[in-house]
Amino acid sequence: MPLSLAARRSVALLPVLLVTAFACGGSDAASQDGTVVDRAPTGFDGAAAMGYVRKQVEFGARVPGTAAHKAAGDWLLAELRGRADTVFTQEWTHTTADGKKLPMRNIIARFKPADTRRVLYLAHWDTRPQSDKETDPALAAQPVIGANDGGSGVAILLGVADQLKKRPPAVGVDIVMLDGEDWGSFDTNTDVLIGSRYFAEHLPAAGYTPLFGVLWDMVGDADPSFGHESHSVRAAPDVVQRVWSVAQRLGHGAVFHSRDLGPITDDHLPLIEKGLRVIDVIDLGFAWHHTTGDTIDKVSQATLQLVGDVALTVIRDLDP
Ligand SMILES: [Zn+2]
Repeated sequence: MPLSLAARRSVALLPVLLVTAFACGGSDAASQDGTVVDRAPTGFDGAAAMGYVRKQVEFGARVPGTAAHKAAGDWLLAELRGRADTVFTQEWTHTTADGKKLPMRNIIARFKPADTRRVLYLAHWDTRPQSDKETDPALAAQPVIGANDGGSGVAILLGVADQLKKRPPAVGVDIVMLDGEDWGSFDTNTDVLIGSRYFAEHLPAAGYTPLFGVLWDMVGDADPSFGHESHSVRAAPDVVQRVWSVAQRLGHGAVFHSRDLGPITDDHLPLIEKGLRVIDVIDLGFAWHHTTGDTIDKVSQATLQLVGDVALTVIRDLDP
């Protein structure tokens, strides 16, 4: 997730009115504002998703060029091969502005690869090599473990893939794990979004045009808050509407609110620039962003369940 988001945190931390949760055995309930809320289980397994975060952090920080990065990528590839119809990688070497050679790997898992009607889901699987927001230089030099920044988005996508394996989607779905999002400087736009830029230049097929795409970034905070990101609203307002209305239907209208986040430099941008209709679901209120505190204890299974329910339902809504 971009470094420059810190300045916007004050916006993200505006008080959020929480909708009272209803303990309800039925599939529908009325929220306090009278909206009908769908309480039927989606099938998404929040406990499994939590396990996927745990597994990633057990590898250590997934910093490109490290043994942990290689091992985590191998694991992720094997996991996706066990779920999707077609899985392939994009592997290349990225040379940074200061001349460092980084091994890069995007991992792409396709459900119903021949279907021309497709949904694209993305997350980044790498973690940041330095904890820039630490004031202590010794801590700032340490890599970000990335339980939330990296780990949570991957976990959501693996959890969605679990359900698509159990019951194939009505449309094609591409799950893309992007490398190299978080290496360099967001302030100067240098050596960041590396995997997304590569994917945008090497799309899975000629004329590749998914119906829409969603990037899931920092989606595991115990106090989640998702507002409208400006590039997303500009490029694909109906996709923002689609995802946020699903969240509202599932009773999460307070978490998926409509406050303006401003423009965020994130992995959706290179794809928007290619003409794809991709939005960013991102939580700017994560207090441990780019610190050594982005650890497993900061990720909430309840939040993963909530976001996973939304992500899966957006796909299931395309069922005939
Ligand atoms: Zn980040």
